[in-house]
Amino acid sequence: MATVSLDNVRKVYPDGQLAIAGASFDIGDGELLVLVGPSGCGKTTLLRMIAGLETVSAGTLRIGGRVVNDVAPKDRDIAMVFQNYALYPHMTVAENLGFSLRLRGTPRAEIAQRVDEIARLLELEQRLDARPAALSGGQRQRVALGRAMVRQPAVFLLDEPLSNLDARLRQSMRVEIARLHRRFGTTTVYVTHDQVEAMTLGQRIVVLDRGAIQQIDTPMKLYECPANLFVAGFLGSPAMNLLRGTLHAGDGLALATAGGTIPLGAPPQMDALDGWRDREVILGLRPEDLHPLAADDPAAALEARLEVLEPVGNEVILHLRHGDLPLVARTPPGIACAPGETMHLGIALQRLHFFDPRDGARIG
Ligand code: ATP
Repeated sequence: MATVSLDNVRKVYPDGQLAIAGASFDIGDGELLVLVGPSGCGKTTLLRMIAGLETVSAGTLRIGGRVVNDVAPKDRDIAMVFQNYALYPHMTVAENLGFSLRLRGTPRAEIAQRVDEIARLLELEQRLDARPAALSGGQRQRVALGRAMVRQPAVFLLDEPLSNLDARLRQSMRVEIARLHRRFGTTTVYVTHDQVEAMTLGQRIVVLDRGAIQQIDTPMKLYECPANLFVAGFLGSPAMNLLRGTLHAGDGLALATAGGTIPLGAPPQMDALDGWRDREVILGLRPEDLHPLAADDPAAALEARLEVLEPVGNEVILHLRHGDLPLVARTPPGIACAPGETMHLGIALQRLHFFDPRDGARIG
């Protein structure tokens, strides 16, 4: 069993800096869990506490059911991959891969066999005699991964392992990591600030902000039902449109914004919004839930002026203005509209999000 459990785990650095306010969650045996959040949110601190590289100030940390608060890193059966790879420059790829096994006194023949196996898996067989300086960024990263995997630890801890790679290589390594995880099924905690990496790799994602957990769920649930404004704005590219306005009820709901009134019909959250009539709310609208429509289409809910049109191959990102309010929409290519023109937009009323402007919590 290689579960990892955190029960109210807290970290205060000696200088008084509160880095983790109290984190409680369980990582299942074989799960790939991603910790994501902006710079300084505490994700590296959390990972380093699991690794044993930082002390836990309060709370209980368990690996495989055993309390490890005071267990040294080498006795936790974990392997960590760092952002800067930390390869030994004077050793060959084969020596780097086999180093931890040699330290453990593993017999030579077994080391050779395991190094060969891992090198084949990571397509490093041709580079076994090279030193790190002679490798490409992607190859170095694969050696760092291989060096952690060769030990077959109970838990893998990865701290922004792809951030030094270019965009293309990052994408292919992401697939590689997903493939390795499927093959070995090792419990994995993966830290990143990149929401795309988090969404594509994580079976579940922990979203952190300023030392506090904002939400823990599957990528789809986080996207479809963000618990607060922070999560809503953090996940999704381009980001969710957030429109502040007063909610009115008449023939249906409507939001009176600085840009004009937007009819919202009868969204599924009607009941949750009952107490919010004539009050300020923030409406969340994903760019893909705003659709260009013909001017005479009765479903057109609002008008907006097109400012910039960004074609990105399989879709077009539209930057618009509704009165003074900026809006972003995404739509399939082939749109017949030029900057400066007025567009008519429909809203996917089944997919609206509403938040409390006072504390950012989801209303419905
Ligand atoms: P990044 O993505 O920039 O690495 P992070 O989310 O991993 O950020 P941490 O490195 O965990 O964040 O830092 C969390 C908070 O703790 C920050 O405010 C940081 O300044 C602080 N911090 C980190 N290490 C120490 C330390 N050794 N002593 C004091 N404060 C620290």
